[in-house]
Amino acid sequence: MIGSSVQVFKIFVVWHRLSYIRIVKDEVEITQLIANFSLSRCTYNCYYICIVLSTVQVLVYHKSIVIIVLDNILLLLPWAIVWWTLAIRYSTQDMSNTSETENTMLCANCGKGEEDSINLKACMACKLVKYCSRDCQIAHRPQHKRECKKRAAELHDKKLFEQPPPLEDCPICMLRLPLLGMGRTYMACCGKTMCAGCIHAVQSRAVLAGRVKEDNICPFCRTPNPKSNEEIIERFEKRMDMNDARAIFNLGGSYSKGLYGLPQNYAKALGLWRRAAELGYANAIYNIGLAYRNGCGVEKDKKMAIYYYELAAIGGYACARTNLGVIEWEAGNYDRTIKHYILAAREGESNSLKNMKSMYMGGQASKDDYAKALRGYQSYLDEIKSDQREEAAVVHGKRYY
Ligand SMILES: [Zn+2]
Ligand SMILES: [Zn+2]
Ligand SMILES: [Zn+2]
Ligand SMILES: [Zn+2]
Repeated sequence: MIGSSVQVFKIFVVWHRLSYIRIVKDEVEITQLIANFSLSRCTYNCYYICIVLSTVQVLVYHKSIVIIVLDNILLLLPWAIVWWTLAIRYSTQDMSNTSETENTMLCANCGKGEEDSINLKACMACKLVKYCSRDCQIAHRPQHKRECKKRAAELHDKKLFEQPPPLEDCPICMLRLPLLGMGRTYMACCGKTMCAGCIHAVQSRAVLAGRVKEDNICPFCRTPNPKSNEEIIERFEKRMDMNDARAIFNLGGSYSKGLYGLPQNYAKALGLWRRAAELGYANAIYNIGLAYRNGCGVEKDKKMAIYYYELAAIGGYACARTNLGVIEWEAGNYDRTIKHYILAAREGESNSLKNMKSMYMGGQASKDDYAKALRGYQSYLDEIKSDQREEAAVVHGKRYY
């Protein structure tokens, strides 16, 4: 009977230890485990008890360990399964404790704690571990690199695949602005962006009432529209001094296309977009991505293009998300493609919806995924459609979705 118990316990210890090794390999830094006192104490206690019991066993039975194991193998099996399960659960609990408590309280490299009046700084990429100094961070890098990269990628994906906030409302009709550029206009007089429906309504009312002069005024602030290229640029520059990201973005666009009498200058356009991007304007971030993709004003760089597309998608510019979907599709990452297309369709990106339909027809996306994208796009249409906007689209021959 004692022999059986000893064997059971020894096998438990071996499995217990094996499960730690597995977790060390897969998830946790070895140094963190060593830093966790309760874990190592538990493991070593297991070994001590094992050695003591082995000695007792040999003294009592004077038999070889192999014979005892063979004698008791049938008795041991069910117990082994139970202990194996328990050992995994116990180890997993220990692991989560390690990352929640040890990591945040101690320097991951030298083990100094916050109680030593040392200001610990978290790893910027993963926020999983803290360090007391830059030297400690550098020294710990080889061990931390793998886990850090994995966690940073998880954090990045979490941000990337969140539905961003919708575009702002038109300040006149208070309906959500359409994504398509033709459906909205930025006015440098007041810095407002308004929908084509409101611009058309105000202007057509003025014409009908015989106030032809008002045909050319801003529907929001009633400033007459600029009469020359110089005046257009002057207004952009005036708003630029006020740090209006849209004005900076538009001036950049004018340089990239050589509009309003400006010489075409990609480098200057890129500089202005970078400034607008720093102010958080997602369209500008997207245009920087496009510049990297096409090599305009900068050397072609696909990685940089993706970097900026992702930033723009997180910032709420859905066209960037469609491009990301295409890039993921080309790489065969259909799961990520579908995620991008569903989010972009909800933001009003009709190209994402079209691509999603092709994926569904080609058997790369499920009916459920396609339905999700369709429902999302329909919700977007319900938010942006109005009679006024429909009328403007018909009169000016410009679609807005
Ligand atoms: Zn340290
Ligand atoms: Zn890290
Ligand atoms: Zn409007
Ligand atoms: Zn205005």
